[in-house]
Amino acid sequence: MPAIAIIGAQWGDEGKGKIVDLLAQQARVIVRFGGGDNAGHTVVNPRGQFKLHLIPSGIFSPSAICVIGNGVVVNPAMLIGEMDGLSQHGVDISRLLISDRAHLVMPYHILLDGLEEEARGAKALGTTRKGIGPAFADKAARLGIRAGDLLDQGVLLERLRHVLDHKNMLLTRVYGASPLSLDEIYAQYCRYGERLAPYIGEPLPVLEQALAKGELVLLEGAQGTLLDPDFGTYPYTTSSSSVAGGSCLGAGLSPTRLSGVLGVFKAYCTRVGGGPMPAEAKDETGELLRERGSEFGTTTGRPRRCGWFDAVASRLSTLVNGFTAAAITRLDVLDAFASLKICVGYRLNGKEIDSFPSNTFALERCQPIYEEMTGWQTPISHIRQYQQLPAEARRYISRLEEFISCPVKLISVGPAREQTITTGSIF
Ligand code: GDP
Repeated sequence: MPAIAIIGAQWGDEGKGKIVDLLAQQARVIVRFGGGDNAGHTVVNPRGQFKLHLIPSGIFSPSAICVIGNGVVVNPAMLIGEMDGLSQHGVDISRLLISDRAHLVMPYHILLDGLEEEARGAKALGTTRKGIGPAFADKAARLGIRAGDLLDQGVLLERLRHVLDHKNMLLTRVYGASPLSLDEIYAQYCRYGERLAPYIGEPLPVLEQALAKGELVLLEGAQGTLLDPDFGTYPYTTSSSSVAGGSCLGAGLSPTRLSGVLGVFKAYCTRVGGGPMPAEAKDETGELLRERGSEFGTTTGRPRRCGWFDAVASRLSTLVNGFTAAAITRLDVLDAFASLKICVGYRLNGKEIDSFPSNTFALERCQPIYEEMTGWQTPISHIRQYQQLPAEARRYISRLEEFISCPVKLISVGPAREQTITTGSIF
């Protein structure tokens, strides 16, 4: 069995959690490879409805090992809360493994995230203010504290003392805020360390063993390709790589071991926070998509910006990720529309273009060019066979397939595991 990366192909919230939960039934290892608790997956399965932020969506699969990879930044308080929540619902969390290389979100990251966002004023990025960006910045700046540091209180104190001097200078001199107490943070993180120690370790041999035995390994993405810091709408992006290339890095898997990349696309588009979204529908179409799709963030509760499927953006996503298969989610949300649109090009400075500009300012000026298709206007959530979908829905999927340039293997018609149409094997 292979290693497959499951990648958000748009601006996140595509329904990756549902797809991972579904495929995890067959997997031995699931590795979350990026982001922090700013991401949120909602999973609906026979055990109930769960909102996960850090723990891989494979945790409900009884035989799977769930790894929080080195590419994730971990807020220990949030993680412990999530672990406790799952345990209270009878979910076995003993198969959780936190990479000792994963960086930690510290109290100053959260404080600075808010202060920096406020300082940006009208140019605020719309971050979740959970300290994720500052934690990744510290990783690059060699100022990070890692999960493995929690296992040695002497190392933790030394690292913390060094970093906190620097952070307190920033807090007090730049932002006029109060300094943070070394003793308090140290004591708090020692407590987290005691609680998390049994779960912290080295995931590389676990991955190696699974692959050697031919068992399925899934790399679970957070956020989406258009929020990737390199390929997304910079600077309105997230801080860690959300594309297929980043999945190997954030999981500790050699790229030569990856055998497939599953792109998860919503049947339309949504985006949370600031930044360009050329096919955003600011009219009653957007309202209807939001209302029918309950498009409010899992982590923040913020209303998501909604619009038609953007084939130009998906072309970039396909190029960057090299999808070998696609999953289309939330097709049922489109049941109500008499006609559907697909954004097939942009108009920029009087010219038509069909590629996604890397320049965010240019992207902000792009006007969508739409192709129109007839809707099916009948409920489809109960359908489990491709051939039973209305002809208009099949035509819509075929058209998306042309833009995505890879076969659509899964079609999701509702949040529950069984509300899925499989058209072919992914592995
Ligand atoms: P993720 O971060 O990519 O996992 O996406 P989110 O969890 O933030 O958002 C996806 C939401 O859509 C969740 O509430 C899912 O339960 C729900 N969902 C997933 N697939 C479908 C679907 O096919 N139809 C509908 N109506 N909801 C879905």
